Amino acid sequence: MKHGSLTDLSRLCIHTITTKPLDIETAIDKYAALGVSGITVWRDAYGKFKPRQIGEMIRKSGIEPVSLCRGGFFPSVTRSNREAAIADNIAAIEEANEMGMPLIVLVCGADPGQSPETSRDQIRDGIEAILPRAAELNVKLAIEPLHPVYADTRSAVNTMKQANDMAGYFNSPWLGVAVDVYHVWWDEDLQSEIIRCGQANRLFAFHVCDWKVPATDILLDRGIMGEGCIDIRRIRQWVNQAGFNGFNEVEIFSEIHWKTNQDEYLKRIIEAYRLYV
Ligand code: ZN
Repeated sequence: MKHGSLTDLSRLCIHTITTKPLDIETAIDKYAALGVSGITVWRDAYGKFKPRQIGEMIRKSGIEPVSLCRGGFFPSVTRSNREAAIADNIAAIEEANEMGMPLIVLVCGADPGQSPETSRDQIRDGIEAILPRAAELNVKLAIEPLHPVYADTRSAVNTMKQANDMAGYFNSPWLGVAVDVYHVWWDEDLQSEIIRCGQANRLFAFHVCDWKVPATDILLDRGIMGEGCIDIRRIRQWVNQAGFNGFNEVEIFSEIHWKTNQDEYLKRIIEAYRLYV
């Protein structure tokens, strides 16, 4: 076996968004049948089910609940929007608790009507407002830095350093960082910031997919591992060196792959997982 390669699926988690055409019940069944070990549920995937029912389905399947995606989107030039975001994040924490999800991923948000610095101040205020409820319900929060191409509307937290600094400001066991290779692979400080994150016990999640060359749509044309230019295994090894022993979560947004047969696609994902993660 090649050094560092993954021989089994015991750390493979799939995000429901990856197989967006499948309803939640079907997704859970198919993941379980293929030996997938963990699931991250997106809030748009509930369908007719309540979070508590989804939690029961997951437990029955034997798959481990990994995280709920997503909270965040705190900044806005409008106060009423910022207050609505906090209420929505509190709702997400309660949903995670009902579902038995130990973690919520935060896509922190940004408003192009103000500076990234102001957006980051509002992100800090938003986290401050929700962190006590997260701690009370035993739900951890992970700041996911997003590639700077998303700094206009999706996140003013764009590097691992910014995410580590933000988490360090709070210094809470309930707040950490989610490393997504798609967003951070280009960063010259990536290895040192991953190690810094791990040493502070704040490395809460690891997401994988690939950056296609060229990507025709920066949001919805993400690749299966191996389809693009990211050396995923190298980053995964840094994450492991940093002490992370959680799941490798496959999170792919792709109009192309969503149009394909999802059984074939899931098989391709598992094959790619063995080869490239
Ligand atoms: Zn992610």
